[in-house]
Amino acid sequence: MQKILVVEDEKKLARYLQLELTHEGYEIRLAHDGRAAVTAFEEWPCDLILLDLMLPELSGIEVCRRIRQKSAVPIIMLTAKDDVSDKVMGLDMGADDYMTKPFAIEELLARIRVALKRHGDEAGHAGGERTLAEGALSLDRDSREVSYGETPIQLTKKEFDLLEYLMLNRNVAISRNELLDKVWGYSYAGDTNVVDVYIRYLRCKLDDPFHVKLIHTVRGVGYLFRLEEGGETE
Ligand code: CA
Repeated sequence: MQKILVVEDEKKLARYLQLELTHEGYEIRLAHDGRAAVTAFEEWPCDLILLDLMLPELSGIEVCRRIRQKSAVPIIMLTAKDDVSDKVMGLDMGADDYMTKPFAIEELLARIRVALKRHGDEAGHAGGERTLAEGALSLDRDSREVSYGETPIQLTKKEFDLLEYLMLNRNVAISRNELLDKVWGYSYAGDTNVVDVYIRYLRCKLDDPFHVKLIHTVRGVGYLFRLEEGGETE
């Protein structure tokens, strides 16, 4: 059974989340302030944390920072209002995602499933092997080196981060907004052009020289990573 630590000082909301998540088959523990959250996580290693940002004792941001120092557990922040600076700070501190209150429980459940699956996929690679490979393309997550066969490929930091994220989610269509959030860390006020620009850079460095098709456009959605040999063009 997967375990979720719910950190929320509004008791009614905490209780509601506990009921809904238990009903979904998760094992739940509640913490009502920031200090209790850090202690609870130390005693009870969980698979995911739902973290309210406005908390007594320690702020959610501080809780996030402390937990990130020792764990890569997925963290979904709950923000009381559409407070952009809090979200940015939380994402900078290593939170994986956020939900703005009030939210629909179905959406929260969907985000929880995504975060757990993504983390599970990453953990699969973390077991000794830190290299992502697709055909002749390989990406070393520790040394941050990328090569195609024997040919090293020079990528900038953002190009590397973008490729890594795409490879971790291979065969999954990812929206431009998600790429902005996950790779750039926060939303550029809805300006997703930057994603298109970097996808173009990656295609120039990967698809074109090696006559393969790795990054596919999914119309109306975004992009998808999957190796197709032979290099058809769009
Ligand atoms: Ca609160």
